[in-house]
Amino acid sequence: MNHITIAIDGYSSTGKSTIAKQIANHLGYVYVDTGAMYRAVTLYAMQNDLIHKDDFNVEALIYQLNKIEITFKYNEDIGFAEVYLNGTNVEKKIRTLEVSSFVSKVAAISEVRSKLVAIQKQMGKDKGVVMDGRDIGTVVFPNAELKIFMTASAETRAKRRFKELIDRGDTVIYENVLKNVQERDHLDSTRKDSPLLKANDAIEIDNSNLSLEEQLEKVLQLVSMTLEDTE
Ligand code: C5P
Repeated sequence: MNHITIAIDGYSSTGKSTIAKQIANHLGYVYVDTGAMYRAVTLYAMQNDLIHKDDFNVEALIYQLNKIEITFKYNEDIGFAEVYLNGTNVEKKIRTLEVSSFVSKVAAISEVRSKLVAIQKQMGKDKGVVMDGRDIGTVVFPNAELKIFMTASAETRAKRRFKELIDRGDTVIYENVLKNVQERDHLDSTRKDSPLLKANDAIEIDNSNLSLEEQLEKVLQLVSMTLEDTE
């Protein structure tokens, strides 16, 4: 059977990674979480005192980009690859609300994007990949055989993210999570370089009222149809 490239883009906390992991496991494909890469660069900026609430030393981050190594390593216990920053597993550290509050500023820097996009293209060069992010179907793999664009209301998404943060033991306030989701949507959609956009040939799925099972069924149908078309 042909291997294809599956690009999943959409707003923050629409469940892109959940469906991407399910599809990758189902097909035996590689799953790449590109948001984790932007989050890891953001963590580097935080750890090196380059970004704070009211100031961000963009030049210094650009200058230090060649010191940042982002890699993935498959973890058999959880069934997907975890992200490493300069050799350290940062999968848990990159998921805090603090990282979320800075990441869209870091992701707006063209130099950061071109470094990460090059790694992403390399990771997907042999196809057989499910990649999720904001610019996968538009910039990273404009020729992907299947492009999905996920949406859901901001409130639905904030509730999901809030639950995720509480479940992992973080102390957060729902209103702050909602604010972060809305701010990131705005920054991601209005930035100059590779803004979040639905590709013309992407299929939109609004999962506000879909169960995980219904969503999986819908996407598996799309995958089957695409695989048949590429036979
Ligand atoms: O997917 P996740 O919410 O973890 O992504 C975190 C942030 O990384 C996004 O809000 C966005 O600013 C940035 N991002 C991006 N391009 C991608 C993936 C993520 O700009 N392909």
